[in-house]
Amino acid sequence: MIESRGEVDAVVVGAGFAGLYAHHRLRQLGLTLQGYEAAGNVGGTWWWNRYPGARCDVESMDYCYSFSPELEQEWIWSERYATQPEILRYVDHVAARFDLRRDIRFETRVTAATWDEAAQRWRVTTDRGDQVSAQFCIMAVGCLSAVKQPEVNGIDTFRGLTVHTGRWPHEGVDFTGLRVGVIGTGSSGVQSIPLIAQQAAHVTVFQRTPNFTMPAKNAPLDPEAVKARKAQYREHRQAMRESRAGVVVPMPEESALRVDDDARRSRFEAAWESGTLYGMVSAYNDLLVDRDANDTAAKFVRSRIRDIVDDPEVADRLSPRNHPFGTKRPCLDTDYYSTYNRDNVMLVDVRSTPIVEITPTGIRTATDEYVLDAIVFATGFDAMTGPLLGPDITGAGGVALGDKWAAGPRTYLGIMTAGFPNLFTITGPGSPSVLVNMLVAIEQHVDWVADCIAYLRDRNLASIDATVDAEDAWVDHVNTVANRTLFPAADSWYMGANVPGKPRVFMPYIGGLPHYTEVCDTVAANEYQGFTLTPSTPRKPERSAPHT
Ligand code: FAD
Ligand code: NAP
Repeated sequence: MIESRGEVDAVVVGAGFAGLYAHHRLRQLGLTLQGYEAAGNVGGTWWWNRYPGARCDVESMDYCYSFSPELEQEWIWSERYATQPEILRYVDHVAARFDLRRDIRFETRVTAATWDEAAQRWRVTTDRGDQVSAQFCIMAVGCLSAVKQPEVNGIDTFRGLTVHTGRWPHEGVDFTGLRVGVIGTGSSGVQSIPLIAQQAAHVTVFQRTPNFTMPAKNAPLDPEAVKARKAQYREHRQAMRESRAGVVVPMPEESALRVDDDARRSRFEAAWESGTLYGMVSAYNDLLVDRDANDTAAKFVRSRIRDIVDDPEVADRLSPRNHPFGTKRPCLDTDYYSTYNRDNVMLVDVRSTPIVEITPTGIRTATDEYVLDAIVFATGFDAMTGPLLGPDITGAGGVALGDKWAAGPRTYLGIMTAGFPNLFTITGPGSPSVLVNMLVAIEQHVDWVADCIAYLRDRNLASIDATVDAEDAWVDHVNTVANRTLFPAADSWYMGANVPGKPRVFMPYIGGLPHYTEVCDTVAANEYQGFTLTPSTPRKPERSAPHT
């Protein structure tokens, strides 16, 4: 384990895809770095989320770094949607290939960061007692790294095994012969339930909100298709960066309401069969902005659920009705709906009969008691702001980030927040982040931050800070664009609605990656318009002790 240094150019918090790429880019600039990572090794999301069935829902060949043409040529993905172990092997490979671990202290959580105005530096402290001073602080803490336990009484009284999908034990969990309860039917529940059901004696799924999920159509990758993609990888990456969601999908400029029923059904069928997340969502140009158009997609998915699930009552319970299609992140699954045809799987609707408490022997709802040996919490995350508000971050004038964001996050471009100079948030709230292929978003942000730091250092500037005016205008824009869509209608984690008491604000930027990138590039080209740049003041020479 490496020791912390006292003074460095930059601290990088987090060693997932974002943190690792930040190490790579900043080291290329010649900066001295100190990395901290709460996990035991690199990988971020893919280090923590080891539940059965965990895999990406953006295709493997797109869900990987593009910064090194050699890396993308040499790495061979085995499946269309890679499993968590394969993604973690990839991250391990990248870390070793580019020697990215050498400045990172693992199993070390940053607990506080305080801006020292006089020194124009961040003072960062950790739960292991490290104290380091850095000119720049890069928060690469992830959007989905602060897990959320269900707000249910009695969790600690349960005598069986409890496990959260986002903190899965590394040695795995053997459910053989067990009666398992799963709370939560977002992506993590949808991916894990079919596999848990294959192993356990019995599975009871406690569902509060059914989600829209589509078949992944996962399969081994065809070596010829891989070869063809690799021959065109550079062009493909450019097309990804120029596409709205960081993946190349056809974007028909057509309303779902302007076509007849047969044409619409056949397009939805093709999208469903495509096995992609974005195929269905972008089948028509108004699915996410017009409720009637959206209903056509929602009805199609519900009809598919009825086709797959044998028991019409169960099919009905699995059918989402409370939120428009696509406004909570939809899922890609393997055999999710058909799992409810198994004799050992039961679906409990905890919206109509809420969970009252967890008891020593199981889960009690308003009407029944379920005896269980194990409970899986697939209950998600305190998304986007949770990881940033975990440490005590104090900016200029002693303002705490938690106070500044009490009514919701405020950022300029999702990269900086006014009053917190030299603190960069990779894929922060107010940027496209979780609405797009996150690898594209991460590389774009890290590149922007690295270029910004190079600019500051070339000109001997001590700090950069967003202006309040620029931030206010950006926050207004983020809200205006979101309010043109159906997203605010859903009680989603995008809205902070999954965490009791969290401000209800649509956190990511939905204006699309190309527009967002253009804004970021223009800001940089205009000498960081909307930011205040402060020159370095030469450090006073140490005064020597007076002679006596
Ligand atoms: P993370 O991978 O979350 O890494 C952040 C790291 O920071 C964590 O390891 C955490 O321990 C560390 N950290 C946080 N706070 C501190 C602190 N105070 N001190 C020290 N360390 C700290 N996105 C997609 O685009 N496509 C997908 O298919 C996809 N699948 C996903 C599947 C799952 C199960 C989950 C949970 C998310 C998925 N995502 C997906 C989103 C995923 O989080 C991103 O794609 C990406 O991995 C994020 O990388 P990151 O480095 O920004 O953050
Ligand atoms: P999530 O989407 O937030 O789902 C959490 C689930 O738990 C929801 O069904 C929620 O119900 C339920 N829940 C929470 N608290 C509850 C309570 N007290 N009682 C009953 N139910 C409760 O979390 P997630 O599934 O972990 O996914 C989060 C995000 O991570 C995804 O949206 C995606 O971006 C990413 N992810 C991706 C993949 C992938 O396919 N590659 C896999 C996993 C995660 P409500 O909806 O009613 O709140």
